Amino acid sequence: GATLGVLGGGQLGRMFVHAAQQSGYFTAVLDPDADSPAGRVSHHHVHTDYLDGDGLARLSRLADAVTTEFENVPSRALASLAGDVPVAPSADAVAIAQDRIREKAHFVKCGVACAPYAVIETAEQLSAVTDDLLPGILKTATLGYDGKGQQRVASRGQLGAAWMDAGQVPCVLEKRLTLDFECSVIVARGHDGQAVNYRAQRNLHRDGILAVTEAHEECVPPEIAKRAAEAALSIANGLNYVGVLCVEFFVLADGELVVNEMAPRPHNSGHYTIDACELSQFDLQVRTLAGLPLVEPRQHSPAIMLNLLGDLWLAKGPQATEPPWAQVLALPGTHLHLYGKQEARRGRKMGHLNITGASVAEVRATAVRAAALLGLPSPVTSA
Ligand code: ATP
Ligand code: MG
Ligand code: MG
Repeated sequence: GATLGVLGGGQLGRMFVHAAQQSGYFTAVLDPDADSPAGRVSHHHVHTDYLDGDGLARLSRLADAVTTEFENVPSRALASLAGDVPVAPSADAVAIAQDRIREKAHFVKCGVACAPYAVIETAEQLSAVTDDLLPGILKTATLGYDGKGQQRVASRGQLGAAWMDAGQVPCVLEKRLTLDFECSVIVARGHDGQAVNYRAQRNLHRDGILAVTEAHEECVPPEIAKRAAEAALSIANGLNYVGVLCVEFFVLADGELVVNEMAPRPHNSGHYTIDACELSQFDLQVRTLAGLPLVEPRQHSPAIMLNLLGDLWLAKGPQATEPPWAQVLALPGTHLHLYGKQEARRGRKMGHLNITGASVAEVRATAVRAAALLGLPSPVTSA
């Protein structure tokens, strides 16, 4: 049988491995952690650094095709692997998605509006910033996730201080927009250019981290969902992208759709697809990598996903205690996914709870009850 490889052994790699194995593939995971969530469930685990040429060589010998789950995998590692084995997404696409400056230039090229912004790489660019971008958010061009590497700035003085604080690395300053809500679209695109997508799902962030995703016809109006899908497809096509791509959007009060950023891999906002759709985002990742046909992934149930952060384990004090799973699982339509991480830390993604139901009302009612049992705020974002 063929072996599919993945760079990165976190939860996204683990769910990829599960999907690949279900279809009969062998799997190989490259991760520096000897006990990573994906490595532990994979047939092969190359336990070495991403940059380590020896590790890449071992992965390319094991795998017939390689993908990535690790957003900040050095694109040169992908490029060097691609000399030996098919790699998707490509090093070029990943390099663009990793750099907010190049990413925004790509959005502009595709004719998709993003928040007004300025590139800040030099002191001259800093002083040339116009006041209409304030109050704004200064974001480092690379390496940010879960709101890390971002600072809110209300004045020029704060902007200068924030850039100093960021170490004067390349940044973008974005105007802070008033959001009605956020949504994302997940696209899968094959080597032959055929692309399919899930309908836009609605996302609620708390403290810069995704907290809830709601996915059903009522949470994103059809007209906005249609425009978001068109934008995401044009962004994927413009990259000649192969693999699974997630595009995040802001929806403004007047209904205007603004692209935020993209992730060159399956995304936390697509985890509901495991239980609510005929094919999950990880199944589609497997298909794009293996060159299998893509079909539109029909969603068979309305769904709500609750992210389970380490905070839930630490609610009762510094000693980690297990949340009340038995009570949660007594609710029909709950699907618990835990990533097998040993240590609970605040803000750390430990798992997610997918909730499906026969109707939107039912899934919302179950989500409200599950959240209450877990001590989480009400998860219904769209009612
Ligand atoms: P991720 O974990 O999704 O990769 P990230 O660190 O790359 O996160 P962003 O997606 O850029 O961060 O921003 C995180 C959240 O901050 C957004 O989902 C949104 O809620 C808020 N935010 C970011 N930029 C803006 C903006 N220009 N105006 C208003 N809110 C914003
Ligand atoms: Mg990001
Ligand atoms: Mg984001």
